[in-house]
Amino acid sequence: MTDGPKREPEIRGVAGYESPYPYLDRLQEKMEERLEHKVPAGGRFCGYCYARLRADDVQCAICERGTGSEWEPVAEVPQEVLRAYLAKQKTEARWVYGSAFVGLIIASVLFVVMVTSGPGLLGHPALAFAVLIGGGYLLAQLTGPLIGGQFGYRRGARKRDEMWARWLAARDGSGEPPR
Ligand SMILES: [Zn+2]
Repeated sequence: MTDGPKREPEIRGVAGYESPYPYLDRLQEKMEERLEHKVPAGGRFCGYCYARLRADDVQCAICERGTGSEWEPVAEVPQEVLRAYLAKQKTEARWVYGSAFVGLIIASVLFVVMVTSGPGLLGHPALAFAVLIGGGYLLAQLTGPLIGGQFGYRRGARKRDEMWARWLAARDGSGEPPR
């Protein structure tokens, strides 16, 4: 497990975004738990990727780096690293909620159009109201998590990865980090 690729891959374009640091995605949920104080801040963390280690772990399960002298475990996740995960979480949430809101606006416009100019039964306020509630819910489900979630993931992950790349550069210099 020690002779994998040594270079950190470059950050790729926006469309079809794929994280160049797959371990960040694997850590995202755990870091969010840490951000929400659901888990203790202190502990034993990988000196390279800051995944939580068990007391007897000699290798990180996430980035596979050993806990020897090169990447000695640390007692807590640096704030700057946590901020990168927070940026991903917030960006994604903004896109999901923002897009769901667009869905609700579409349903509201439909409601007004039906009530003011819908012919016959289509103009009945009860039907328009059903469209507002049901359609609004469905549209919010569609535009929020499905559409907004996609965009949000890409933007958020890219922001997080750029922050992580800066962190790596500041911490390790431009050299290739050993595994
Ligand atoms: Zn690690």
